[in-house]
Amino acid sequence: MAQRVSRVLIVGGGIGGLSLASALCDRGLAVDLVELQAEWTVYGVGIIQQCNVVRAMADLGLVDRYLDAGFPFEAVGMYAPDGRLLAKIPGQRLAGPQYPANLGISRLALHTVLSGAAIEKGTAVRLGTTVERLDQDETGVDVTFSDGTAGRYDVVVGADGLYSKVRGLLFGDKNRPRFTGQSVWRHNFPRPVEIDHLAAFTGPDGNAGLCPLSHELMYLFVTSEEPGNPRMPADQLHTLMRDRMRGFGGLIGALRDQITDPAQVVYKPMEVLMMPAPWYRGRVVLLGDAVHATTPHLGQGAGMAIEDAVVLAELLPQDAPLGDLLARYMERRYERCRFIVDSSIMVGEWEMARRHDVDRIGLVKRMLEVTAQPV
Ligand SMILES: Cc1cc2nc3c(=O)[nH]c(=O)nc-3n(C[C@H](O)[C@H](O)[C@H](O)COP(=O)(O)OP(=O)(O)OC[C@H]3O[C@@H](n4cnc5c(N)ncnc54)[C@H](O)[C@@H]3O)c2cc1C
Repeated sequence: MAQRVSRVLIVGGGIGGLSLASALCDRGLAVDLVELQAEWTVYGVGIIQQCNVVRAMADLGLVDRYLDAGFPFEAVGMYAPDGRLLAKIPGQRLAGPQYPANLGISRLALHTVLSGAAIEKGTAVRLGTTVERLDQDETGVDVTFSDGTAGRYDVVVGADGLYSKVRGLLFGDKNRPRFTGQSVWRHNFPRPVEIDHLAAFTGPDGNAGLCPLSHELMYLFVTSEEPGNPRMPADQLHTLMRDRMRGFGGLIGALRDQITDPAQVVYKPMEVLMMPAPWYRGRVVLLGDAVHATTPHLGQGAGMAIEDAVVLAELLPQDAPLGDLLARYMERRYERCRFIVDSSIMVGEWEMARRHDVDRIGLVKRMLEVTAQPV
């Protein structure tokens, strides 16, 4: 009989790590989590959570508090640069008929829901701490932490994001994130009543979108090509963002003139990574952006991390050799994550090539079909 997993260390208290912590505690496992940040903060804009993510949050048993913390909506509207509606794509209520299809939520509200659940269910969280060494043998992993303490675990999960230290400890630095050539500019605004759904606008040079976050708030995102990934001066972010929005009319054009404070602009270059097999070595496994980081074009990066957590939490407690369980985890996740990463990169390439002959609406519909499949 295989030795069952009972004690797990999660490295990284972001969206994927916290989702996994809560799900493993629900199954009676002992969970420690270390987070590098001494002050556990997330930046203040929002995140789009589509039908499959609402379903995953129901699988995690967190859907009610999660929906209360955001703005539920049903459809995605696709618009021309001048604000004309081109198509409205209905979402599917994958979590059940009583739940909405999609959710817009602020990153802070999502963090509050996930960290609150993980701690409430028994996760032992240590902030300002990371792993320094991982030494594994047949029956466990000896971990040395950055504060000089040590511990032994059945499994260690690297959920430490795009620049994962655990990935480096396992595989060296051969899997490095790649800048795609584009960046994203984001800003919160008061929500007008008509933004009661995700509104995506195709622009001449990039794209923009408006996502409701609460009854009062929405956020705006704009993509732009930034050759060479220049460092943007923090005190100029407002004028630079306005410049990237010059091709838009309608509501987006009106919002452009309201961007006056550089401190309210959240700027981020787009970086991607799709790690080939394997996503684990021995008793240490990776999850979320640490193994598959995508651009935001299809709004699915966090969704993939949360789904990873659902699948890993289902498998880890099972009575089977750990190597088989981790192989099954990767098998169930690999193609779906690869589809999201590749398709998102393709949309960015269409934007940079100024391709207006492509079927973006068709790709969004295909993404919704693929992610509606069970995990
Ligand atoms: C501009 C932009 C917009 C996006 N919009 C969306 C969207 O609308 N919808 C969507 O689904 N996804 C979106 N994403 C993607 C989403 O943010 C990520 O896919 C998601 O955050 C990945 O979760 P994660 O837990 O793997 O990593 P993260 O959320 O990055 O969490 C990693 C955690 O690990 C910690 N950490 C890092 N290093 C260490 C270490 N050495 N030791 C301990 N802890 C460490 C970090 O501090 C962090 O708390 C967007 C991404 C970007 C860049």
